[in-house]
Amino acid sequence: MRLRFTARALVTGDRAGTVVPNAVLDVADGRIAWAGPAAEAPPAEDGERIDLPGILTPGLVNAHSHAPMVLFRGQGEGLPLERWLQEVMWPREARLTPEDVEVAMTAASAEMLANGVTTSVEMYFHPERIAAAVATTGARALIATALIPIPGMPPYEEQLRAVVDLAAGVPDDGTIEYGVGPHAAYTVPLPLLRETAAVAREHGMLLHVHVAETATEGAGLLATHGLSVPALLAAHDVLGGRVLAAHCVHMDDADLDLWREHDVAVAHCPASNAKLASGVAPLRAMLDRGIRVGLGTDGPASNDGLDLLADTRLAASLARLAGRSATALTAAEAFWLASGAAADAIGRPDLGQLTAGRRADLVHVDTRDLVFEPVGDPADLLAHLVWSGAARHVRDVWVAGRPVVRDGASTTVDTEALRRDVAARAARLAAG
Ligand SMILES: [Zn+2]
Repeated sequence: MRLRFTARALVTGDRAGTVVPNAVLDVADGRIAWAGPAAEAPPAEDGERIDLPGILTPGLVNAHSHAPMVLFRGQGEGLPLERWLQEVMWPREARLTPEDVEVAMTAASAEMLANGVTTSVEMYFHPERIAAAVATTGARALIATALIPIPGMPPYEEQLRAVVDLAAGVPDDGTIEYGVGPHAAYTVPLPLLRETAAVAREHGMLLHVHVAETATEGAGLLATHGLSVPALLAAHDVLGGRVLAAHCVHMDDADLDLWREHDVAVAHCPASNAKLASGVAPLRAMLDRGIRVGLGTDGPASNDGLDLLADTRLAASLARLAGRSATALTAAEAFWLASGAAADAIGRPDLGQLTAGRRADLVHVDTRDLVFEPVGDPADLLAHLVWSGAARHVRDVWVAGRPVVRDGASTTVDTEALRRDVAARAARLAAG
């Protein structure tokens, strides 16, 4: 299957913020075959031609999500974290069925696609149901199965073995990948974290874990062991291999140096960190050290959106406020954090940028809108996208060259029926 796109411009998703005006992008067999200025394009081969009035960007990569939590969006609004978890989230999650997870993930995945997010890292339960949901919508997911030793769950080692078995059976088209998601150092004992990391390394799987989200979560561990959570993880051989740490808000210089030393990647979640008053992660210090960082929404119960473009703007705003400098994060870097950098952070160099050889996950942003004017220089398109663009401008989306959103609507699922289904399930879960 060959496709040739022509577009007003390509926003390639690299760190420099490259914008290619009057562009062509060729797709062959689900991958980008060529991308660049129309004047330099190779002769068109047989295949479909798609002329776009707006810009093409890479499909965005959401580096940290618990998307099935659309079932709990907005619930417990305004409660402090402990009460929110104990009174609102955990009782509902205890009643979740595998089917609830699949329906919720299907709805959430369609929502993400409509927002231009084609890949998400999902830390949640019932991983095979998350995979089924994504297969239905046509998106991609890296599913870091939530692992947590709590009553009512199978023994931890059994949970871990089940993930390894699942990972052995995935298709090789990059749509689904399984990883391990031990919740955090304060909920999973260190010997289990060590074992999980060994298994992840042995099988080349991503290990995804929450680290230093709040100022107090490591206090107990510090009192017991005399080490920060990052230092404890290093001391227990959890780092090394593909490790992706969510949040990393409360990190000192020594912690950041450890991340650099072990090449730990960070899923930066500014909207969740702001909503829950967790703090502002030291994003500039991470980037200056060469730490890989990608943007994440976190779950829709603590964001509450699955709108990575909105979070891109917030990441830039917070980094500038924290650094008291309008140069602390450029628009180009902010968009890169949601595209090319996020793909690097999750260990997927086949995603996140519009370059030949990568998978053809594409987003058409309609720029026929006042917020995209004026354009004196092609780079203005990227600045407008970050500072005044919105999910409503996402018109069409392709995953591996296959259309999954056309003119703003899903081509794969009935989003209105899913909305009603999620509402009914959420009501049941709330009632107990
Ligand atoms: Zn999370």
